[in-house]
Amino acid sequence: MFNFDLIPNNYQNMEHIVIIGNGISGVTVARHIRKLSDKRITIISAETEYFFSRTALMYVYMGHMRFEHTQPYENWFWKKNQIELKKGYVKSVETKNKRLHFTEGDSLKYDKLIIATGSKPNKFGWPGQDLEGVLGMYHKHDLENLEKFAPNNKICKRAVIVGGGLIGIELAEMLKSRNIPVTFLVREDSFWNGVLPEGESEMINQHIKNHHIDLRLSHNLKEIIPDENGRVKSIIIEETGEEIECSVVGLTAGVTPNIDFIKNSEIETAKGVKVNRYLETNIIDVYAIGDCAEQHEHIDQRRPIEAVWYTGRMMGETLAQTICGSKTQYKPGHWFNSAKFLDIEYQTYGWVFGKKGRPEYEKHFHWKHYKENICITVAFHKDTNLFLGINTFGIRMRHNIFDKWLTEKRDVDYVVSYLKDANFDPEFYSAYESDIITQYNAEFNTKLTAYKKSWKRIFSKT
Ligand SMILES: Cc1cc2nc3c(=O)[nH]c(=O)nc-3n(C[C@H](O)[C@H](O)[C@H](O)COP(=O)(O)OP(=O)(O)OC[C@H]3O[C@@H](n4cnc5c(N)ncnc54)[C@H](O)[C@@H]3O)c2cc1C
Repeated sequence: MFNFDLIPNNYQNMEHIVIIGNGISGVTVARHIRKLSDKRITIISAETEYFFSRTALMYVYMGHMRFEHTQPYENWFWKKNQIELKKGYVKSVETKNKRLHFTEGDSLKYDKLIIATGSKPNKFGWPGQDLEGVLGMYHKHDLENLEKFAPNNKICKRAVIVGGGLIGIELAEMLKSRNIPVTFLVREDSFWNGVLPEGESEMINQHIKNHHIDLRLSHNLKEIIPDENGRVKSIIIEETGEEIECSVVGLTAGVTPNIDFIKNSEIETAKGVKVNRYLETNIIDVYAIGDCAEQHEHIDQRRPIEAVWYTGRMMGETLAQTICGSKTQYKPGHWFNSAKFLDIEYQTYGWVFGKKGRPEYEKHFHWKHYKENICITVAFHKDTNLFLGINTFGIRMRHNIFDKWLTEKRDVDYVVSYLKDANFDPEFYSAYESDIITQYNAEFNTKLTAYKKSWKRIFSKT
């Protein structure tokens, strides 16, 4: 794979950076190390030869793109940039001798090791969880399994999805695109209400049902029953004992760091690989980034493990600086995220908590369109009125504006008054503007009017 004609004579003597994992974090750190140095770089993956965008897997099944289109770089890119690719599964890490061992029997020496092995779908020891037709929705082979067991609604008469989160709803959308009936078991009493505030979660419940998905809230999986060939035949629901016949069971009850192979090494682990703010582990010259890294301490209100795309990329960029001699702390900035609930776009900036984790000082202003699935929730401090964050559904907002307002510590009145500035499509937004302001004034006894600054004024200040 690697073309040794391209490399300098002393290449084999260069410091060897070995990265386990060719996901967004692994390839980002490799690309940035290459930009900054001529170190020898090897990326290892057991999954695929080349990097692909995991977030686009659903569109392959839905027929919007081919798998090759999920690969952001041409296949020649790696060779041209002198990044060696190795396909293989690392079964153990020997930190004393700085050596990796592969299930295939070979081994590889490193000078610096970066663990970027991502996540794996959770399994909670359900009887039947390893049967044929039971799958996660994470790796490329999950997509291949889905094609095999759920190519159409003749072969797959029904699918059951277990676990209501962002990947679960994506899997439901995928199956519905092929007219496969879906039963969706969700442990919580309202969809994703560990994260979403009440009004939003209720809107999503209704939206899922409107798409003819058989949503079962407060329902848990008890067991998966096989047929005579060891394939999924049905599932049993814990609470009711009901048996539902199905050909596929999708396990989407969250993910866990994919780090079993280092559990017997000297590298400190908890749920993930423990790292400090420099993404260093307890072992010198060993680092961890992306979904598999667990911060010793929370950064602001962020979770110690963040399984999202952009934080993996940020960690990769940050660590490349440190590896190349400029020691740099990981500073993710203000939290943001975006996703889709079937056809409703969701964005979040700053912190807006669901009922469960909400701090006592966090107050909400919630507005919902009287008939469409469009709503916003603005979170603010009940004593100081400090703007804490916003969730939007069906309205696309500008990341840079909210990032600026959070940094400037604006108050909620300011944010509501200037909301139009943050809107991606102000013309579209103007249809809701007066309604939002009127409701806000009525609820909080204010007399705000809607303002709009010119873009020039907004950015000339920064
Ligand atoms: C269906 C889906 C949709 C998603 N949508 C979004 C979204 O819209 N927005 C968002 O922010 N995030 C989304 N995510 C999450 C996001 O994709 C992940 O946070 C991100 O891909 C993690 O990147 P990573 O580089 O840390 O790890 P990964 O992408 O998991 O890459 C790790 C690689 O390491 C390999 N590996 C693991 N162990 C070994 C070993 N021992 N030896 C060799 N190779 C090994 C794995 O096989 C894998 O190829 C989604 C995830 C999924 C599954």
